[in-house]
Amino acid sequence: MDFTLSEEHQMIRDQCRKFADKELKPIAAEYNRNHKFPMEQVKKLGEMGIMGIVYPEEYNGAGMDYISYVIAVEEISRGGASTGVTVSAHNSLCLSPIYYFGNEEQKKKYLPRLCTGEHIGCFGITEPGAGSDAAGTTTKAERKNGNWILNGTKTFITNGGVADIAVVMARTAKDGGHKGLSMFIIEKGSPGFLVGKNEGKMGLLSSSTTELIFDNCEIPYENLLGEEGQGFKIAMHTLDGGRIGIAAQAVGISQAAMEDAIAYAKERKQFNKSICEFQAIQWMIADMATDIEAARLMTYQAAGLLNGDNRQKYSKQAAMAKLFASEASHRVTHKALQILGGYGYTTEYPMERYCRDARITEIYEGTSEMMRLVIATNVLKS
Ligand SMILES: Cc1cc2nc3c(=O)[nH]c(=O)nc-3n(C[C@H](O)[C@H](O)[C@H](O)COP(=O)(O)OP(=O)(O)OC[C@H]3O[C@@H](n4cnc5c(N)ncnc54)[C@H](O)[C@@H]3O)c2cc1C
Repeated sequence: MDFTLSEEHQMIRDQCRKFADKELKPIAAEYNRNHKFPMEQVKKLGEMGIMGIVYPEEYNGAGMDYISYVIAVEEISRGGASTGVTVSAHNSLCLSPIYYFGNEEQKKKYLPRLCTGEHIGCFGITEPGAGSDAAGTTTKAERKNGNWILNGTKTFITNGGVADIAVVMARTAKDGGHKGLSMFIIEKGSPGFLVGKNEGKMGLLSSSTTELIFDNCEIPYENLLGEEGQGFKIAMHTLDGGRIGIAAQAVGISQAAMEDAIAYAKERKQFNKSICEFQAIQWMIADMATDIEAARLMTYQAAGLLNGDNRQKYSKQAAMAKLFASEASHRVTHKALQILGGYGYTTEYPMERYCRDARITEIYEGTSEMMRLVIATNVLKS
C-alpha cells in the first residue's frame, strides 16, 4: 500500500492549485456577491482537459484516472466551491451516464464537445415531489410519431441555466415504480424545453441552480439513454460515481478554510501573543487537519475503487467518503470561523462563505441520512 501521489497526480494537483490561486480565488467574492457564473474560467478548465478528465482521448477526454479527478475537484473547490460543483456535476452526472450507458453513436455525438467544455452538461432527477425518493419521479415521457414527448418539472438542477446538454429521468411506464423510469439526453433548444426559475440559495452563489421545465418537449426517439426502464439503474450508478466528486469538493472547501484560519492565527495577536500560541487554538487546528486528512484518504480510496470499476464495494465506500468528508467540512469550516472570531462572521473574509458553501455537501447527491442508509445496507448484507 503506497500513499504517495504519482508524478501524474502531483502534476494535476499543482496545475489545478495554480489555476485556483490565479483564476478562482481572486474572483470568488465578487462572483458570489453578484451571483455570476464563471464561464470564462470554466472554458479555461475545458482547455486544460478538466471538463472531460477521466474520459478516453477518442472522445476528446484527458484519459486520466479517478484519483486525478478527485484531486482536480478538490483543488478547484479550494479556489471556488461553486466552480467545483460545476465541474463535478458536468463530469460525474452528465458525461458519466452518456459514457457508461450511451451507444456509440450517442457517445460520438455528445462526448467530444462536452469533454472540451465547449458544451456544459447537467443532470436532472430531482422534482418538487421526488427528492431522496427518486423512484417517485412523475415527469412523463411518451412515444408519439417516433419521438418522445416529455412533460414535467425538474428542480434544483446544477448547471441548469448554462447547460447545452441535459441528462434527464422520466417515467415511461405508469406502473412499475423505479422500473418504469427511463433516461433521456435532451439538447438545449429542443422544442418545449425551458429553463425555469433560478433557485435562490444559501451558498454556491456563483453556480447555476435552476428548474428545468418540459412542456410537451419533443426529442428524437434515439435520445433514449440505455434501455427503456433502465433509468433508475443509470441514476443510481451515476450518483454512486458523483459522490466522490462531492466528497472532493468538501475536502477542498475544508482545506481553504483551514489554510485561512492558520494564516490568521499566526498574525492575530491577543494578550501580547499570536493566538496560535494558545492551546485552545492549536487543538482546533489539530482537529481540522485530522478531519481533512481522513476525508481526503477516504475520497482517494473510493476513487481508487472506481478506477478498478469494483462497483459492488465502491457504492459503500463512495457513500462513506461523501458522508465523512461533508460532515467533516461542517466541523472544519465552523472551527476555522471560530479562530477568526468576529472577523470570521463578517463578509470581509471568505470564511462565512466557506461555511455556507460546505453545508450543501451534506444534502445533494444524497443526504447524509441516505448515505447512512446505503452504508448500513451494504454493511448488513456483507
Ligand atoms: C444547490 C443544489 C444543487 C442540486 N443539484 C442537483 C442536480 O444537479 N440534479 C438533481 O437531480 N438534483 C439536484 N439537487 C437536489 C438534491 O439532490 C436534493 O435536494 C436531495 O437529494 C434531497 O432531496 P429533497 O431536497 O427533496 O429532500 P427530501 O428527500 O424531502 O428530504 C428531507 C429530509 O428527509 C430526510 N429523509 C428523506 N427520506 C428519508 C429516509 N428514507 N430515511 C431517513 N431520512 C429521510 C432527508 O435526509 C432530509 O433530511 C440539488 C440540490 C441543491 C440544493
